[in-house]
Amino acid sequence: MTRVAFLGLGAIGTPMARHLAKPPFELAVWNRTRAKAASFAAANAGTRAAASPLDAARGAAVVITCLPTSADVESLLDGPEGLLAGLEKGAVLVDCTSGDPAGSRRIAARLAPRGVGFLDAPVSGGVAGAEKGALTVMVGGDAAVLERVRPVLAAFGAKIVHCGAVGTGDALKAVNNALLAVHIWSCAEGLAALAKCGVKPAVALDVINASSGRSNSSQNLFPERVLSRAFPRTFRLALLDKDVGIAAGVAREQRVPSPLVSLTAELFRAAHNALGEEADHVEAVRLLEQWAGVEIA
Ligand code: NDP
Repeated sequence: MTRVAFLGLGAIGTPMARHLAKPPFELAVWNRTRAKAASFAAANAGTRAAASPLDAARGAAVVITCLPTSADVESLLDGPEGLLAGLEKGAVLVDCTSGDPAGSRRIAARLAPRGVGFLDAPVSGGVAGAEKGALTVMVGGDAAVLERVRPVLAAFGAKIVHCGAVGTGDALKAVNNALLAVHIWSCAEGLAALAKCGVKPAVALDVINASSGRSNSSQNLFPERVLSRAFPRTFRLALLDKDVGIAAGVAREQRVPSPLVSLTAELFRAAHNALGEEADHVEAVRLLEQWAGVEIA
């Protein structure tokens, strides 16, 4: 049995952790709101609800974190009940947060002198992919450390890709999500303009999805979530705002001109401010609808 700890039972963390709640894994879970860890343990026999990050990490070969930001992960490291007090020599901290490269590098540097490995390992595929155990995991860090923990990641990941040094998984994830944001926003602008010309959004999507302007947004997100007005809450707009900001920062650091990503970061910050902490990422469309005075339905 491999002892694994999972910290952060949010929208995506919960279905990821479920795949580890069975042999050959022995799972401990920790969540800031303790009731969520208790009900997870009650629903998944054999899982232990840990009292603190230290308690979760103690004796674990692999500790997985899945929190909103790298700063949240850093905030769990210190203190008498913190992760550093529990992580044992030879263990690996795998951070599945969509984090920022500099934050991941800082965490790795704090763990290395203790003989604890670190990988940034953000995921894509959404809540549906997590439920199926079919996520893509993009990993930054030592390739040999990845090989050691690969069987753990394979419990929820169908595609596990080594990207490069610590921080490169985060960078790739942020760029992917910046593209998602560009597609959502540009699809909303196009469909709103067409609606005002008298073209029904369903007709527009039928054509676009058979043509070169198609994307995951036009093929899946708009038909299932916007035209239906369902807007299910699976991935918070606040988190996508954070991701596009990270992508803009990566481009800036690398001195790559990125006017489009920077503008998209501003648009998603505005949408996040207007729609609040609990809105779903696709609801950014509502801000454009308001500005345009038309509903994409
Ligand atoms: P949620 O907002 O649903 O959950 C966040 C989790 O982090 C909760 O368990 C919350 O605890 C915990 N948390 C928040 N702040 C802190 C803190 N300061 N200290 C300790 N725990 C904290 O987020 P998701 O599960 O959706 O996302 C997690 C990560 O995965 C993010 O980086 C996100 O960008 C990424 N991601 C999400 C996807 C999705 O489809 N949802 C897809 C791909 C990546 P509490 O219960 O107490 O609030």
